[in-house]
Order: sequence, then structure tokens, then C-alpha cells
Amino acid sequence: MTSKIDIFRSIRSLTDRNTPALRIKIRESLNLMRDELLKEMKRKFVKDRANRIADGIIDWDALNTKQETLLKSVILGIMDKAGKLAFGIKKQIKKLDFEIGFDVVNVEAVKIAEKITSELITLIDSEAKKNIKYLIRNGIKDGKTMSEVAKGIRLEQLGLTLRDLKASANYEAWLLINKPKLSAKEIERRVGVYERRKYRKRCDLIARTETSRAVSEGTILGYKQTGVKRVEFLAAAGSCEECGSLNGTTYNVNAASGIIPIHPACRCCFAPLIQRDI
Ligand SMILES: [Zn+2]
Repeated sequence: MTSKIDIFRSIRSLTDRNTPALRIKIRESLNLMRDELLKEMKRKFVKDRANRIADGIIDWDALNTKQETLLKSVILGIMDKAGKLAFGIKKQIKKLDFEIGFDVVNVEAVKIAEKITSELITLIDSEAKKNIKYLIRNGIKDGKTMSEVAKGIRLEQLGLTLRDLKASANYEAWLLINKPKLSAKEIERRVGVYERRKYRKRCDLIARTETSRAVSEGTILGYKQTGVKRVEFLAAAGSCEECGSLNGTTYNVNAASGIIPIHPACRCCFAPLIQRDI
């Protein structure tokens, strides 16, 4: 007998196990962006004006294609595992008498994976664009040459929110004024630590949220393929009010797609609704 708590735990653990893989790919994707930026800044800066530079400097379409290659396969992989898990859940509940293999490489799954991927890339890129503009403008204001600005741009700075990037600049300014005895190298080190911490937090949040989305979509596809008609929303223990109020709500399996995550880092999931057995 598979209880709701067992289902919740197994889906939750799948999300936890797969979050690091997506986090790594997000980092690689930002790395690609940084490489492209440095290359193009050296080439194009003389001709471009600073306020146009972030939009014009990178061939975003070409970069997005590379980012998509990186991210889509890991998202599809997570969906595949989630679909197989859904099969396992259904099998335990219903004692399926036929062997069916979950096949995630179908049109519907690929379409969903592409949507998740492209929204993830938009999320990463839109913030990074703002940061690039900000970093270039500030560099120019400080009288740096473009290659100095380019060399100074760290991966973490591309992955922060603009708000955190500005906070980091304020922290640096604060150190310069209030800790006059610190060497430039030590200030750089402290700012680096600050930025890396914020960066890890944001990447982790994004990876967790998108893994949760891929797991949810994968389980829904898996349920559908095993003939599940309705699913039940299981809110995580200690979840927010919104998720808590949805606990126990049932949906037609076709209407469940796109619901989870309810908010960033949502830990909720769907269980198949099979009245007599649960
Ligand atoms: Zn939730």
C-alpha cells in the first residue's frame, strides 16, 4: 500500500536529487554568456555606445541556442525520471498486470521541456542583461578601458539579481570608506565572498524551482500514460498559506499541467487520485 506521505516523500526526494544537476547547467549557461561577452567586448566596444552595448554586444539568439542545448536535456532527463516514478507509484497502488515503460521522448514531453527551458533562459538572460549594462556603465564612469571592464566581469555578477549586484557595489564602497586599512586585494576577496554567496542562493532557488516544475510535469505525464484521470494536490508540510489551502484539491490530470510550482522553491506535488486504494 502506498500512502500519500510515501508518494510525497519519493517525489520530493527525486526533486532534491536532481536539483544539483540543473544548478550546474545554469552555471555553465552563464559561463557561455560570459565567454561570449568578453569576446564581443574586445571586438565591438570601440564602435558601440555604452547604453546600447548590452543589447548589441552579444548575439543573444546564438547564445540562447547554446543555452537551450545545455539546459533542455537535463530538464527532459528530470521529467523522464519523474514519469518513471509516476509509473512506479501507479504500479504499487494498482498492481498493474502489464509491463509498460514510460517514454518521455514523446511530442508532448518535448514540448513541455522546451517551454520550461525557454522560460528559464529568459529568466537568466533578462537579469544578466541588466547587470551587463550596469557593469559597463559603471566601468566607463570609473574611467576603465573596455578590456579592463571585460576582465573584471565575474561569472557571479552575471548570475545575481541587479538588486544584489548593486548591494555588492555598495558593500565595496562601504569597505573602501570604513576599512581604509584593508588592501585592495582583501576588499576584492570580501566582495567576491559576498557575491558568491548571493549567487549560490539565487542559482539554487532557480534550480530548485525549475526542477520542481520538471518533476511535476513529468509525473503528470507518467500518470496520464498509466490511465490516471484525476490527481490530488499534496502540499508540503509547513508550506505557505496558498499551498496549504490547495492541499487535497483534485484536478483533472489534463488541467494539472502548469500548476506546480505555485511559487519559487515550491515543494508541493501531485498524487494520483485512486479512491479505493489510497
Ligand atoms: Zn507549494
